[in-house]
Amino acid sequence: MLEFEGQTALITGAAQGIGKTIADKIESLGGVTVRADFRDWDNQLAKIDEHSYGIRLDVTDPEQVKNSVQQLIAEFGNIDILVNNAGITRDGLLVRMKDEDWKQVLSTNLDGVFYVSRAVLPRMMKNRYGRIVNISSVVGQMGNPGQGNYVASKAGVIGFTKSVAREVASRGITVNAVAPGYIATKMTEELNEKAKEQLEGMIPIGRIGTSDDIANGVCFLASREAGYITGQVLGINGGMYM
Ligand code: NAP
Repeated sequence: MLEFEGQTALITGAAQGIGKTIADKIESLGGVTVRADFRDWDNQLAKIDEHSYGIRLDVTDPEQVKNSVQQLIAEFGNIDILVNNAGITRDGLLVRMKDEDWKQVLSTNLDGVFYVSRAVLPRMMKNRYGRIVNISSVVGQMGNPGQGNYVASKAGVIGFTKSVAREVASRGITVNAVAPGYIATKMTEELNEKAKEQLEGMIPIGRIGTSDDIANGVCFLASREAGYITGQVLGINGGMYM
């Protein structure tokens, strides 16, 4: 049975969707969670309940990231777990893609993972313990038309994960990626019924995934028990990519 008693977890993009479910699960397993998000909460750490806190954090802003992480370390001592979950899409065929759509997606999905990891790692290294789980995507493994920007960012997250995993392995820190398939959240709810049916046909398990499916895998990789797993990509996709 996994448990996070005495551990603090920072989860980005945690106001809703997959990030919120991950935070709820870590909390239900005894951890203290800091839920960081773009619009919710304030720049100062706010107590939500006994075991969870909220902070407004734009992962694309390196100064804000640095200051917020300093605030968290002052409050909690260590950040044991980091889940880089914040992510956006700005889909479009490449020949028509605007510079801004490319930059925004890379900035949130890849630069953000870099900024938050860089801010958190020195403390984890000092503590000789840490778990970083980066949320990539199945399309970062297999490509997807109309998502050149998103796919580049999510494939980048996989390469980043493997490099950092090698850099920090000797310090008791593991760095892994989770690559979700199609998961029912705000990000995917805009798909029409026909597109959803088509998708389900591509998924051997025969259904779109849930945030819980992802949170279960993230919690395992974030646990002490997963200490011999690093630099890996865990596909949670109902078998749509093997
Ligand atoms: P979601 O419901 O849109 O949640 C993403 C959260 O990230 C939102 O609360 C969003 O805030 C926040 N966010 C966006 N930009 C941010 C920034 N600059 N700084 C901090 N927070 C920011 O998406 P989701 O479906 O749960 O996705 C979570 C992660 O899983 C993403 O990395 C996504 O790429 C990945 N993923 C999702 C699927 C899927 O099928 N849903 C599949 C594969 C991978 P606002 O809403 O206020 O902008």
